[in-house]
Amino acid sequence: MSSTKPLRMPILFFGHGSPMNTLAHNKYTEAWHAMGAAVPRPKAILSISAHWYTRGSAVTAMAQPRTIHDFGGFPQALFDQQYPAPGDPALAARVRELLAPLPVAMDQSWGLDHGTWSVLVHAFPHADVPVVQLSMDATKPPDFHYELGQRLAALREEGVLVIGSGNVVHNLMLMQRVEGAPPYVWARRFNERMRAALASGEHRTLIDFDGIGEDARLSVPTPEHFLPLLYIAGLQSGDETMVFAVDGYEAGSLGMLSAAAGMPAQWTGSSAAP
Ligand code: ZN
Repeated sequence: MSSTKPLRMPILFFGHGSPMNTLAHNKYTEAWHAMGAAVPRPKAILSISAHWYTRGSAVTAMAQPRTIHDFGGFPQALFDQQYPAPGDPALAARVRELLAPLPVAMDQSWGLDHGTWSVLVHAFPHADVPVVQLSMDATKPPDFHYELGQRLAALREEGVLVIGSGNVVHNLMLMQRVEGAPPYVWARRFNERMRAALASGEHRTLIDFDGIGEDARLSVPTPEHFLPLLYIAGLQSGDETMVFAVDGYEAGSLGMLSAAAGMPAQWTGSSAAP
């Protein structure tokens, strides 16, 4: 009889920002690469992306998900980008099983959206690990998303790397398209509050972000970029500490915090706040 404990896979949150980060080489993409390089090789990746925000829940269940270019107004090179990772129908079925009795549709029409592939091209550049996406039900409150994260925790001991891809601060309307634009005061305050809550494991502060008032209203004008973080918080085990891979701001109103938990002991990420 073996007493070997199953390996518990880390959990990762990527603050993805502009789709152009796909083609960029900067401190964020370097951090994403380092995150991918630091984790034990996963059997598969389950991605919760800000860009699959649906009525009801669904998982991509096809064997070969297509690369979806779900944006407009970007250079041809971004539309030419492919991320040909295979799917994993067995993992899709396992996710549905773990979330039962919640109805989860076995989707055959979505694929991998840029929330997933804009970070995975850096974190897993060979596209040789199967990827499944889980949609977020837009009709549900933050608690629901956090609890779904908790219910997926068993996957961590089954060799599955669960990632969330969004942004803690995401206000496209107030973006300042000038080089080196400083973050808005409210963006910095909200990001630092969420970061402190992540660092201390105060998940209730994350779930109740709306109660923070004006800073939250401006930083999270719509919830889809924030919610992937709640899945990752829900997946976190009580004996783990959230560590930060990179932090910063783009265009004044995008918070680029990326975080991880359950990483190998020697991995310390970056403790520097921007
Ligand atoms: Zn996005």
